[in-house]
Amino acid sequence: MINFNVPPFTGKEFDYMREAVENEKICGDGPFTKKCSEWIEKRTGTAKCLLTTSCTHATELAALLAEIKEGDEVILPSYTFVSTADAFVLRGATAVFVDIRPDTMNIDETLIEDAVTERTKAIVPVHYAGVGCEMDAIMDIAKRHGLMVVEDAAQGIMASYKGRPLGTIGDFGCFSFHETKNFSMGEGGALLMRDEKYIEKAEIYREKGTDRSKYYRGQVDKYRWQDYGSSYLPSDMNAAYLYAQLEMADEITQTRMNRWNEYWELLTPLASEGRIELPYIPEECEHNAHMFYIKTKDVEERGRLIDFLKKKEILSVFHYIPLHSAPAGIRYGRFHGEDRYTTKESERILRLPLFYKLTADQTEYIADQVKAFYRQ
Ligand SMILES: *Cc1c(COP(=O)(O)O)cnc(C)c1O
Repeated sequence: MINFNVPPFTGKEFDYMREAVENEKICGDGPFTKKCSEWIEKRTGTAKCLLTTSCTHATELAALLAEIKEGDEVILPSYTFVSTADAFVLRGATAVFVDIRPDTMNIDETLIEDAVTERTKAIVPVHYAGVGCEMDAIMDIAKRHGLMVVEDAAQGIMASYKGRPLGTIGDFGCFSFHETKNFSMGEGGALLMRDEKYIEKAEIYREKGTDRSKYYRGQVDKYRWQDYGSSYLPSDMNAAYLYAQLEMADEITQTRMNRWNEYWELLTPLASEGRIELPYIPEECEHNAHMFYIKTKDVEERGRLIDFLKKKEILSVFHYIPLHSAPAGIRYGRFHGEDRYTTKESERILRLPLFYKLTADQTEYIADQVKAFYRQ
């Protein structure tokens, strides 16, 4: 059976986790946490990176720093994972969904401005599949209306838009290191801040509302309760697992990219015949091979293809159920404008297995089976 996902593992993880244990520092903000955040800062050029317990928590931190309050509105796509909305709804905001572009499945930047009201506080673009949203247009709207931009870059590490790393363009960027992402620590994430002025507040919110981060650096002689907050820092054992992969980030990305390109080449004939659609990568975007998907004719054909592949021992999956159609989405949000593509395109998408350990032979076998389905 070819699983849909296998968590990334390079071989060094056990050594580093053992080292974390032997350091006798397994709580948060130990040596490996520091190594990981410094690596991310160096690679992305962000002013500050804080490792978190998840991308969901990184987004919650961003919502706190953006001072999202009851009655505020936040603009985001409906075609996304729940966390994108959760973090803001938790602060009492209304999720205002706008339609996606069918080519990249990202928020349609041309529809955002029409959804802005005097209650709007932030725009939350999601870089689906590690393919950047049209950030120039989005940043321009944000600037003209005085809005914050929080990038859901959960899938976007190592990818860029016009040469700028995803997660570093908006006020805040959020990465995920869940086991399904390109690099993992089991559960984990990171908050990236463009402006240094947020660092102190972010550290306090992340450390239960205390200035413990300053205390650890020897900047204060005791730490005290300064503000509200929560516990958003991961164990150093998890950071140790992640660091093994960050060290091999280029190799992991290249390996994924090879598989992605193989899928692309092998499935192009089917796409040329108009049987399926393949992902679209805009010229200004460099992606990170986070995901390989195809689009079937409709939901019925997708169901038959999933069953066909399962019989061939291949697990393929789809997502997301558009948030605006889900119970909480109806309660906490509204769709602005027409749903031309969100529902329709979400019913056509099928994700094929793509993970670090996937082999070229497996990729070829999977592509062959997709072709067999359409040729039967
Ligand atoms: C994975 C993912 C998240 C959530 O990440 P966690 O680390 O599991 O909290 C949020 N948004 C998107 C788009 C994702 O793909």
